[in-house]
Amino acid sequence: MKQEISLFLFRRDLRVLDNPGLLAACQRGPVLPLCILDEKTPGPYKMGETSRWWLHHSLEKLAHDLDGALNLYVGDPLSILTELLSRYNVRHIFWNRCYEPWRIEQDTTLKTILKEKGITVESFQASLLWEPWQIKTKEDTPYRVFTPYYKKGCLQAPPPRSPLPAPKAPHYIKDEKSIPLTSLQLRAKNGWDHKLEAHWLIGEKAAHEKMHLFLNNDVAHYKEGRDFPALGHTSRLSPHLSFGEISPHQIWHALAGVSGLEEASPSIASFASELGWREFSYYLLFHFPDLPHTNFQSKFDAFPWRADTEALQQWQQGQTGYPMVDAGMRELWQTGTMHNRVRMVVASFLVKNLRLDWRLGAAWFWDCLADADLASNSASWQWVAGCGADAAPYFRIFNPVTQGQKFDPDGAYIRRFVPEIAALPDPYLFAPWTAPIPVQRAAGVILGQTYPHPMVDLAKSRDEALKAFQLLKELPMGLENELR
Ligand SMILES: Cc1cc2nc3c(=O)[nH]c(=O)nc-3n(C[C@H](O)[C@H](O)[C@H](O)COP(=O)(O)OP(=O)(O)OC[C@H]3O[C@@H](n4cnc5c(N)ncnc54)[C@H](O)[C@@H]3O)c2cc1C
Repeated sequence: MKQEISLFLFRRDLRVLDNPGLLAACQRGPVLPLCILDEKTPGPYKMGETSRWWLHHSLEKLAHDLDGALNLYVGDPLSILTELLSRYNVRHIFWNRCYEPWRIEQDTTLKTILKEKGITVESFQASLLWEPWQIKTKEDTPYRVFTPYYKKGCLQAPPPRSPLPAPKAPHYIKDEKSIPLTSLQLRAKNGWDHKLEAHWLIGEKAAHEKMHLFLNNDVAHYKEGRDFPALGHTSRLSPHLSFGEISPHQIWHALAGVSGLEEASPSIASFASELGWREFSYYLLFHFPDLPHTNFQSKFDAFPWRADTEALQQWQQGQTGYPMVDAGMRELWQTGTMHNRVRMVVASFLVKNLRLDWRLGAAWFWDCLADADLASNSASWQWVAGCGADAAPYFRIFNPVTQGQKFDPDGAYIRRFVPEIAALPDPYLFAPWTAPIPVQRAAGVILGQTYPHPMVDLAKSRDEALKAFQLLKELPMGLENELR
C-alpha cells in the first residue's frame, strides 16, 4: 500500500506563513505542494504580461522556501489532479479560496468531481479579512456603499483571525513529473520585462521587509502623504497582496502593533480603510460577478463612448500632452505600477476627456500592472467612470493640470517620468503650452516635436462629456437598451 499523502494547491497565496490551507495539509502528514498554470479557463482574464513576470519570480522564491519541493504543471487542473491521483495515494486536497467568478465556477466543479472520487476537498479563507457572504445589511442584502459596508459591516463583525505560523517540520514531496519553472513560459520572449527588475523585490520575505519598512518609516505620514506620488508614503504592497505573498491578516495585525504611535493613529485608520477598499472590491466582485465587463449602474449601458484607436494609443504611450497623465502612463509602462492618485487622474482623462470606454482602460491596466487584480481593477475603473458602486459622480472630472499643481507641487514626479519637459519652470510644467515660446525654447521644448500638443481641449471635452451624461439622465426608462 502506497503511503497516503495530501495535495495542496497554491494559487493567489504564494507564501508559507499564515497559509491556512498549507498548514492544514501539513498537519495531516506528507504533502505534495503544487501550482497549476491554467491558460484557458480564465478566458479574457488570463494574466497580463506584467503579472506573468511577477508570478515567475514569485514561484522561484516560493520553490526556494519549500526547499525545492514546489511542483509545477501547465494545463487543465482537473486532468492534472486526476493524473496525480492515479500515481499517488491521495485522500485529501487542500486549497485557499479565490473569488474571481471563473475560479469559483472551476472550484465548484472540481469539488463535486473530486468528492465523487472519494476525495475530501477542504478550502480556507486566506486572502480576505472578511468573507463576502459574511457581511450583509440588516435586510440581508449586499452593501452597495463603502462606508456602511466597512463601518457597520466589517468593523462590527468578528475581527480578522490572528496570523498563523508556518507548518512545523513539513514533509514535502517532489513529483518527478513536475516541470521546470521556465517551461511555464511566464517571461516575455523579447525580454522587455527586464526593465521591471530594478523596481521590485519579489517574494514572501521581500513583502515582509517592505511592510516593516513602511510601518517604521511611512505609515505615520500616510493620511497626509498618500496622495502625493513623489513622496513615496504609500506601502507599495499591492502586488504582494495580490499574489498572496503577504496576507491582509498579517498587515492588519501588524498595524494593531504600531497603533501605540499616538500621532500615527489617524494615518493607521486611513491605511486600514484602504485595506477595507480592497475587501469591498472583492465583495462587489463576489456579489456582482459581471463587474469586470458590465456597468454596475445599467443606465450607463447607453453611454455614447467614442471609438478612437489613435487616441487610445496616445493615452497608453503617455503622449497626451498633459504631463500628469503622461507621467502616470509612463510610470506604469516603466515600473509595472502607478500611484493611486495618478491612476484616478489618467482613468478620468480616458473616460471623460477622451470619452473612451472604461473597459479599454481596465484592459490596458490588466496587462501592465504588477498588482492587476480583477476585483480592485474592475471596481476602481467603474468607480472613476461613475458607473460603479458608490462611484465618484460622473460630473466629477479630474483636471490633470490642477491635479498636478496640487499633488506634485514641485514637479518631481512629472520631471522623473517626462524628462523632456523637466527644464520648464514650475509654473508651466503642468501645462507646457501656456509657457511663452522663448521660455519653451530655453527649456528645449518644441511642442509637436519634443513633446505633444495637448490632444484635447480640457474645457471643451469636459462639456461634451457632461452633455453626453445629461442625455443619459434624460432618456426615458427603457430607452437605454434600445440605444445600445
Ligand atoms: C483605475 C484604477 C485601477 C486600479 N487597479 C488596481 C488593481 O488592479 N489592483 C490593485 O491592487 N489595486 C488597484 N487600484 C487601487 C490602488 O490604486 C492600488 O491598490 C494602490 O495604488 C496600490 O499601491 P499601494 O500598495 O502603495 O497602496 P497603499 O496606499 O499602501 O494601500 C494599501 C493596500 O490597500 C489596497 N488598496 C489601496 N487603495 C485601494 C483602492 N482604491 N481599491 C482597492 N484596494 C486598495 C491595496 O491592496 C494596497 O496595497 C486601482 C485604482 C484605480 C483608480
